[in-house]
Amino acid sequence: MTHTASSLIVGNWKMNGTSASAATLIGEILDGAAALPPSVALVICPPFTLLDRVGRMIEGSVVRLGAQDCRAEPKGAYTGDVAAPMLADLGVHYVILGHSERRRDHFETDAQIRAKAEAALACGLTPIICIGETAEERDAGDAFLRLSAQIAGAVPAGFGADSAGGVIAYEPVWAIGTGRTASREDIESTTAHIRQALAAHLGTDDNLPQILYGGSVTARDAASILSIGTVNGVLVGGASLSADSFLGIAAGA
Ligand code: PGA
Repeated sequence: MTHTASSLIVGNWKMNGTSASAATLIGEILDGAAALPPSVALVICPPFTLLDRVGRMIEGSVVRLGAQDCRAEPKGAYTGDVAAPMLADLGVHYVILGHSERRRDHFETDAQIRAKAEAALACGLTPIICIGETAEERDAGDAFLRLSAQIAGAVPAGFGADSAGGVIAYEPVWAIGTGRTASREDIESTTAHIRQALAAHLGTDDNLPQILYGGSVTARDAASILSIGTVNGVLVGGASLSADSFLGIAAGA
């Protein structure tokens, strides 16, 4: 299956990795990445502790660096937090924002996620804003309403049109880390809805943010997901911790 637009394959390592495991994994990914067509862009989002090390390893390669969060304020008395300009200083290109694990564990709101996205854009980072419905919302028939509300609350004006671009990751909460990938039909209809909601929210059909799917993506289903017209790439958690799986997913693009 061919995918005409370029595909963004993002690996979210979450809270995994040591200097030794990162060295092995990045080495294997770099070996395989050379064989990928130029239309496939690989992004690795290690934990903060490994950003500098991974950044040095991928320097000069086609792989780009991403972070998993940032704070909205540019600096100050915020113990344990990391600001967007600090990420830019390390050569980070992308930052995942509003992941459902952060919404759940750190009670992040759409307004906070929007402020983080604005801070990231201000220093040239491309935000990957995550949205997604829970199983309860889906069962109640409220998934589209929930996604529209998250877009209205978390997506800044002009998102996608900025020179840094902008990415939306559709990650149904019930599909993350569960081995339960959404069906192709579900992803197709939901990303079409997300595209419409983005166009309505942003007041334009031009330069809309790229849309990724995330949630238990494996090399087995990646090609089918990536062939959907409204899907520009995938956000991969568990399967990004193995070079074979991650490169297998990228090969499906
Ligand atoms: P998963 O995670 O691929 O392990 O389901 C995806 C994500 O949380 O970004």
